[in-house]
Amino acid sequence: MALTSEVKRSLVEYLDSQRPLIGEQAVSAIRSSNEISSSERLTDQQLIDHFPKLFADLIEYLLTNGDSGTRRRTIEGALRHGMTRWQQGYALVEVIREVGIVQRSILDEGIERFFEENSQWSESVHDVRRNLGGFFEDSVAGSVQQYVENFTEQLRNANAKLLIANENLSRLDESRLRLIRTVSHELANVLNALTLTVTLITTGKDETVRSEMLEICQRNVREMSELLNDLKDYSILIAGAAPLQIEEINVRIFADELRSSFHALTRDAGVRLELLIDPDLDVIRSDRKKVRQIITNLIANAVNYCRKPDSRVVLAFRSLSQDFCQIAVEDTGIGIPSEHLDSIFDEFKRISPSEDIKGSGLGLAITKRLVEELKGSIEVFSKVAHGSRFMVTIPKTQ
Ligand code: ADP
Repeated sequence: MALTSEVKRSLVEYLDSQRPLIGEQAVSAIRSSNEISSSERLTDQQLIDHFPKLFADLIEYLLTNGDSGTRRRTIEGALRHGMTRWQQGYALVEVIREVGIVQRSILDEGIERFFEENSQWSESVHDVRRNLGGFFEDSVAGSVQQYVENFTEQLRNANAKLLIANENLSRLDESRLRLIRTVSHELANVLNALTLTVTLITTGKDETVRSEMLEICQRNVREMSELLNDLKDYSILIAGAAPLQIEEINVRIFADELRSSFHALTRDAGVRLELLIDPDLDVIRSDRKKVRQIITNLIANAVNYCRKPDSRVVLAFRSLSQDFCQIAVEDTGIGIPSEHLDSIFDEFKRISPSEDIKGSGLGLAITKRLVEELKGSIEVFSKVAHGSRFMVTIPKTQ
């Protein structure tokens, strides 16, 4: 038998009057259930925050026997409730259990009581129970749908991250393969030259030629050992094996030490090394060894690629902001053609190396890695025949 409007009206009034009691009963049932541990983090008020909306939807559901518009609104309300509980850290099973407890509280404290007190309408109890069942089915469906959407979103994000990680891995594999190929090639070149020279030494008769060959031999061995040293540094960096050793660095003292250590190199090359230190930059906290290696590589290049009489190299320390400082190495050397500026940090990149300027092509690749380890960045500006400026920006405190 369909519910009469009189039964509906009385029931709705009764449910509305019982709302505080039903709320209390639901909270205590949720608290005493051992299966909704996430509820422990919530206040009583947070547990029943959704009650006004839930009751309004339930009443409408009872009044309309769950027409399609009401069902849609019920599901929308449940979607929102599902989102709230998701944000409050509920597991899906906890949301479903909680909805079940609320349903039971409404049934026990609301509907059953109403029909006990109004036994003249007891035939209608089945219809009301069916409506209540339908309403809570839709509520569970809405909450589950919200969770599924959230899980899907999480999966999508995780998948996107995986794709990026995968791409990075294949790029790393590719660059390691390139590294092995180039190293084998470089070492083979030096070894071939060495073998040839050694043959000439052992078979040659002329003493002058023999001593010339020995010199070439020595140079080849030196090159090979420099290449191997660079490679060792680079492989340690790629493996990410050396953790940062952070310490306080007094910029002035550090810069003076650097200048002294470059004295012999700059004097022999006829290069003047100047220091510029921002008075605002007193102390930084960073990895001294790594900062030193970065500057050493840049100054070695600046000196190496100067090749002009009366050349000048400037090492500057500047404060950029409260958090960042800049270390710049500027030279008045041969400069770098603009089309190569993007690729000079690649492993083994050398720009038409002239025979007398030796190098492994790893210096800037190592420098860039070191800068990245210090969570910094490196930039280069250069003009052919005028000079180059390498600028490293790092945090003042690691
Ligand atoms: P290497 O110096 O061993 O060749 P690097 O990685 O240090 O290798 O440098 C890569 C290339 O970038 C060099 O071969 C050179 O052509 C160019 N380069 C680097 N620094 C400078 C500079 N200060 N002036 C001109 N060219 C430079």
